[in-house]
Formats: sequence, structure tokens, C-alpha cells
Amino acid sequence: MDFGFTPEQNQLRKTIRDFAESEMRPNVMEWDETQHFPIDVFKQLGKMGVLGAIFPESLGGSGYSYVDYSIIMEELARVDPSVALSAAAHISLCTNHIYIAGSKEQHEKYIPKLATGEWIGAWSLTEPEAGSDAGGTRTVATLDRGQWTLNGSKTFTTNAHIADVCVAMAVTDRAASSHGISAFILEKGTAGFRPGKKENKMGMRCSPTGEVIFSDCRIPESQLCGKPGSGFIDSMRILDGGRISIAALALGCAQGAYEAALKYSKQRKQFGRFISEFQAIQNKLADMATEIDAARLLILRSAWLKDNGNSVNKESAMAKLYASEIAVKACNESLQIHGGYGFIKDYPVEKFYRDVKLCTIGEGTSEIQRMVIARQLLKSGC
Ligand SMILES: Cc1cc2nc3c(=O)[nH]c(=O)nc-3n(C[C@H](O)[C@H](O)[C@H](O)COP(=O)(O)OP(=O)(O)OC[C@H]3O[C@@H](n4cnc5c(N)ncnc54)[C@H](O)[C@@H]3O)c2cc1C
Repeated sequence: MDFGFTPEQNQLRKTIRDFAESEMRPNVMEWDETQHFPIDVFKQLGKMGVLGAIFPESLGGSGYSYVDYSIIMEELARVDPSVALSAAAHISLCTNHIYIAGSKEQHEKYIPKLATGEWIGAWSLTEPEAGSDAGGTRTVATLDRGQWTLNGSKTFTTNAHIADVCVAMAVTDRAASSHGISAFILEKGTAGFRPGKKENKMGMRCSPTGEVIFSDCRIPESQLCGKPGSGFIDSMRILDGGRISIAALALGCAQGAYEAALKYSKQRKQFGRFISEFQAIQNKLADMATEIDAARLLILRSAWLKDNGNSVNKESAMAKLYASEIAVKACNESLQIHGGYGFIKDYPVEKFYRDVKLCTIGEGTSEIQRMVIARQLLKSGC
């Protein structure tokens, strides 16, 4: 067992941290207030190899491991969780779905452009009536003379309004239930395919989230991604890995909020003493630091297991559940340590407090993570 990072991983962390501090930190609040997606920053992340993190170099990716990818996500979220969220949807969901399930032609057509950030990706599973129960998908796709026709709508799609490519799930065989859901690759500009309402969110505001609408959207048969009926099963596999990135994103929120609290507690004086000298504040800092470390270890374990070819269904759910829950707690405690100043927008914790809540909801709520974990416990008997 080795708890150390390699020199390359330490350098990767430094590179991403330096970029986030210089190119993101100064603008984070403006992007948040105006709900502005920083496309230039995203394109730069593409050029740096971040958007192709987990894909092979032969397809334009960086060939990083999931441990490396976790480091990237943590460092982006430590400064701006919403940029990290858009990157996670682009990498772990859209591009990864094409990578895991797509044909050689689809790999060659889409992955190099997505991996380098030339194109932006989105992934649409959730529908108004099918959230946690994604098997209840209602969007339909019918095949006729070499063309699929899609009808229906998706909700809560990250990057919906900026995506060049969207992987969307639709029912192709109603009788086969979740085994009758297939994945399709849609390109921006396709007739009958468009983003709908853009959501006005409490947090993650610079990451655009919205509806995706299909009305008699006709696409060639070749836009099916994976086998007919495998879209739901492939989505579940993709979410196993995706949860590692959302866990790392939550960790970044917790780390950013913790660092802000630590710094503030050493500057703020009350009763003639720095508040860091009060035991009540020290206890909060100690709990935050301990829980952040524990979350990081769970995330790195699941990333390491995935890198070594193991199933991470239970482990990534554990990492996502724990990291997101302690991150919400850490942001709450950080705000409390800031007192009234934590409630105003001049301090970064106010934004972390709003952003972090998504982590217990997106890519499966905490309740669903517990179901996933319990299912595995009962199956394996330990
Ligand atoms: C900012 C944002 C970005 C997102 N990005 C994407 C994206 O890019 N692509 C995409 O497809 N989706 C995306 N989502 C959707 C997200 O994955 C869903 O919101 C999430 O899966 C929960 O679904 P729901 O909102 O319909 O809640 P529901 O499923 O309606 O859940 C409501 C409540 O009931 C609980 N619940 C549901 N079923 C059970 C059960 N069996 N047992 C116990 N409790 C249960 C839930 O845990 C929750 O507390 C995004 C959401 C947000 C907010």
C-alpha cells in the first residue's frame, strides 16, 4: 500500500491549481452573478488536456488515470465548482459514453474533438418524470428506413445550451423496460433537436443547465451509440465512474471552504483574541480536516480500483455519498466560522455553500447511493 502521489501527480495538481488561481479565481463571482459560462477558460482546459483526461492519446486524450482525474476535479472545484461540473459532464458522461459504447467510427469522429475542447459535450438521461428512476424514460426513438426519429424532452442537462454534441437516452423497445432504452449521439444544429428552458439555479450558476427537446428529430441509424437497448445499462456503468468525479468535485468544495475558514479564523479577532484560539472553532476545523481526509481516501481508493480494472459500483457510491455529505457539512461550518461575513458575497464561502448542495443530488442522490451500496452489501453478504 502506497499513500503517496507520484511526482507527475504532484506536478499535475500544481498545474491545475496555478491555472485555477490565475485564470478562474478573479472572475468566479462575476460568472456566478451573471450566469456566464466562461467558454474561453473551458477551451483553455481543452488545450491543457484536461477535457480529454481519461481518454487515450491515440484519440486526442491525455491518457490520465482516474487518480489523476480526481486530482484535476478537486483542484478545479476548490476554486470554482461550476466550471468543474461542466467539465465533469463533458468528460465523464458525454465523451465517456461515446468512448465506452461507441463504434470505431464514432470514436474517431467525436472523441478527438471533445477531448481537445473543440466541441463541448452534454449527456441527457434525466427527464421531468424520470429522475432517480431513470428506467422510466419516456423520450422515444423509432427506426424507419435507416433513420431514427426522436420525440420527447430531457431536463437538467448540464451544458445543454453550449453543447456541440449530446448523448441522449430514448426508449426503442417499450416492452423491454430498462433493456429497451438506447443511447443516441445528437449534433448541434440537427433539425428537431434544441435546448429548451435554461434553469435559474441557486448554485453552480455558471454551468448552464437546461432542457433538451426532441420534436420529430430525424438522425441517421448510425447515430445509435452502443447496441440497441444497451443505453440504460451503459449509463449505469458510466455513472459508476462519473461518481468518482462528482465525489472529487465535492471534495474540492470542502477543501476550498475549509481553507477559507482556516484563513479567516486566523485573521478575525473577537474578545481580544483570534477566533482560531477558541476551542469551539478549533473543533470545527479539526472535524472538517478529518472528514476531508477521509473523503479523499475513499475517492482515491475507488479511483485506484477503477484504474486497476475492478468494478467500483459500491466503492464509487461510497465515495460520492460520503464526500458530498461531508462537503455540505464543511461548507456549512465554514460559513458559521465566518459569522455574518460568511453570509455576504465578498467571501468565497457563500458561493461554496450554494454550489456544494448539487453534489448530494447530481449523478444520483445520497438516498440512491445508499441503495446502490446496500444492494452490493446484501449481494456479497459482507
Ligand atoms: C445542476 C444539475 C445538473 C444536472 N446535470 C445532469 C446532466 O448533465 N444529465 C442528466 O441526465 N441529469 C442531470 N441532472 C439531474 C440529476 O441527476 C437528478 O436531479 C437526480 O438524479 C435526481 O433526480 P430528480 O431531480 O428527478 O429527483 P427525484 O428522483 O424526484 O428524487 C426526489 C427525492 O426522492 C428521493 N428518492 C427517489 N427515489 C427514491 C427511492 N427509491 N428511495 C429513497 N428515496 C428516493 C431522492 O433521493 C430525492 O431526495 C442534473 C441536476 C442538477 C440539479
